[in-house]
Amino acid sequence: MQNSTLNKTGLGTSLELIETLIAVFFITALIPFFILNALLSLTQLKSPLTTSTVFDACGGKHFYSQWNHGPLKSSLLLLKILSGEFSFCGISLCNKRPAITLRSNTLKPGIFSVHQLHQTMGYIEMSHSESLKFHENKRSLIFDISLAAKSIVAQMLFDASEKIAPKRFDLLGVSIDNVSKKEALSFIFDEPVESCRSLCFINAHSINLSCSKPDFRSSLNQADCLLADGSGVRLGASIKGVKLRDNINGTDLLPHICRRLQQNGESVFLFGSEPGVAKRAADKLQKKYPGLKIAGTHHGYINQQESDDIVEKINGSGAALCLVALGSPVQERWIEENKHKLECHTVMAVGGLFDFYSGKIARAPRWMREIGMEWLFRLAMEPKVKFKRYVIGNPLYIARILSAYS
Ligand code: UDP
Repeated sequence: MQNSTLNKTGLGTSLELIETLIAVFFITALIPFFILNALLSLTQLKSPLTTSTVFDACGGKHFYSQWNHGPLKSSLLLLKILSGEFSFCGISLCNKRPAITLRSNTLKPGIFSVHQLHQTMGYIEMSHSESLKFHENKRSLIFDISLAAKSIVAQMLFDASEKIAPKRFDLLGVSIDNVSKKEALSFIFDEPVESCRSLCFINAHSINLSCSKPDFRSSLNQADCLLADGSGVRLGASIKGVKLRDNINGTDLLPHICRRLQQNGESVFLFGSEPGVAKRAADKLQKKYPGLKIAGTHHGYINQQESDDIVEKINGSGAALCLVALGSPVQERWIEENKHKLECHTVMAVGGLFDFYSGKIARAPRWMREIGMEWLFRLAMEPKVKFKRYVIGNPLYIARILSAYS
């Protein structure tokens, strides 16, 4: 224990030294900009600097100087690193005093933070305090450099500062609900229901499918809730000038769903994937969430007659929630055709979810998911199956978005 504290202190000191050197380097390199900004202010007979306030997630209040005119207005934050008050990477900063304050023994306020990166990317797997703990545990020079690099790329691609965040927006004819993780869970579990509601996820692939198959677009738009999933939709929304709240894919939402099912004592039916996969996923989920009620499972390779039998099986199981993993566009069509016969309160289209949770297909490492590159990993895992979707589909999607919105 003492050793680990010593190691952390040693690591902290060497990181501080490196950060000071990097800050000196950048300040020196930026001197021409500083002179330019000062001259711009002088020509307008205004003060070159203004004092701004920022709070960190642990409740600290900080004052810093900003340029009034010219480029790189916040570049003087580097002085805070030089003074040792801030780090390049650390506790997240915000403009308002945080409602809940967190604790960190080893991190300083940082220009970049894991939480801020997750916010920009709409990554919902970790809470704010979990992301702070994660940073504390993983902290190293490499970790901080990669965090800064990921944050800069994310800011460039998805900077949301000047965008609006409507509750619903249209992307190439598909009407997407722009909700947070909390709101999505509330839709599934808290809203009063009269009949089964459907929830589907929209990614670049489903937008492409909806462009080539108008009947699929209409199936999607029939859903009661359509959630944005993946960096493609985030980029599309960003180009359209829309800020996405969270990136809510089925795989990241499932742990939260399981916890709510546990709390409510409700059960879930897993329908889809190859024979045995849904059952293996169910077993793993029960191990991870003890007491989770699995109402039943069934594979997804079926004909019309079997489809009717499955509806009966789902209804007979008393499931409150049904997850349908048949891949797009089959699952959305199945849901549209059968929703009115289902007695569960919610039915969700979840794609390859059972493949991931059963362990049949590995999930991309966290760093790829954090920067919205999960698709690249899926392409590497199944190059033949996913070639058309990603290698042809992604550029086609970007071209469609650019021609519609730029
Ligand atoms: N699948 C199925 N029945 C079918 C076709 C596919 O159950 O007739 C399953 C397949 O085994 C896989 C899932 O549907 O588990 C599709 O996964 P994919 O990764 O393609 O989903 P997406 O990326 O569309 O969410």
